[in-house]
Amino acid sequence: MKIESVPAEMTACVWRGGSRVEIETVPVPEIGPGELLLRVEACGLCPTDIKKIDLGLAEPPVILGHEMAGVVVAAGQGSEKFSGKRVAVYHHVPCRNCRLCELGRYSQCAGYKKTGTTAGFSPAGGGWAEYVKILPWIVKGGGVIEVPKWLPVTVAILMEPLNTCLKCASALPDSKGILVILGQGPVGLMLTAIAQRNGWEVVTVEPLPERQEKSIKLGAKAVFRPGKDLTSRLEEVAGPLGPDAVIAATESEEAINGSLGALRPGGTLILFAHTRKGQELKIDAGQIGVAEKQIIGSYSSSIELNLLTRETLLDDRFPWGEFVTHVFSLGEINRALALAKHPEGGSLKVAVSPDPGVVNA
Ligand SMILES: [Zn+2]
Ligand SMILES: [Zn+2]
Repeated sequence: MKIESVPAEMTACVWRGGSRVEIETVPVPEIGPGELLLRVEACGLCPTDIKKIDLGLAEPPVILGHEMAGVVVAAGQGSEKFSGKRVAVYHHVPCRNCRLCELGRYSQCAGYKKTGTTAGFSPAGGGWAEYVKILPWIVKGGGVIEVPKWLPVTVAILMEPLNTCLKCASALPDSKGILVILGQGPVGLMLTAIAQRNGWEVVTVEPLPERQEKSIKLGAKAVFRPGKDLTSRLEEVAGPLGPDAVIAATESEEAINGSLGALRPGGTLILFAHTRKGQELKIDAGQIGVAEKQIIGSYSSSIELNLLTRETLLDDRFPWGEFVTHVFSLGEINRALALAKHPEGGSLKVAVSPDPGVVNA
């Protein structure tokens, strides 16, 4: 079922290895039974995409980009209910049938690790293109979320990163108290907004002045620069016992160790920044074995939080409209990547769009 005419070819940002992404004309994906074709309105740039390019973690050629929203312009047999709908898409869904899913560890499910959206080549997201094909198991598995037409697309594309933040926040202890968030990039700031709404007293650590300012605006009680004196600075706000929990939305070893030292005995440290297997971090074992502090990880999204994520995204008490600060055309992908990597002038989340004029209007 087609609801608008779809061209045979489209513009896409193709990573063929190296540090740059090429702008190419590629065929618009054909869809089969159960599949959907999404006309992309915008797609965010995620640090994981940037890592794939910088560290060569994907097998080129690929079309990356997974924080996408748009309109379903064609629907395969069995998926017609999404025809013409405006949606945000998760590129991973769990199988809900394995031991790990049973345990609620959805992002560890083998099925979850497969990517189910593509604009061509092997599925890698595909959001940095004009059209994306959504594979049947994503459609069936609850990965396609309808969003109202009035919702700015720059908010709709926050669906997936917001889910990951809500998941991380749900791993915090129920006892609440003082929470330190290391890093106030887009996800760090989302965490600040959510945690303070959930009743935590939030203190943040961030080097960039614009982000420090934003952090306070979103409800942080205090914000510090990272550095050697972090432990003593945290003591000033959290008292000699130290903060109750820390979320590391940064890879800075100094910040992670400084905050682990400052954490109160029995406190919780959540590693939230995208680490990778084999990446080493030197920590003081006594902080765990003697002071009974816990280090846990939170990775990717949880399908159980899809409803809450949508509700939170539509909740106008949160200023989600301020998170995407720059929308570039597909042709400007390399500029967009450079800004996402080296934020300046208060830039937060960066996105690309086949029609940035409409998005920015
Ligand atoms: Zn992402
Ligand atoms: Zn599973």
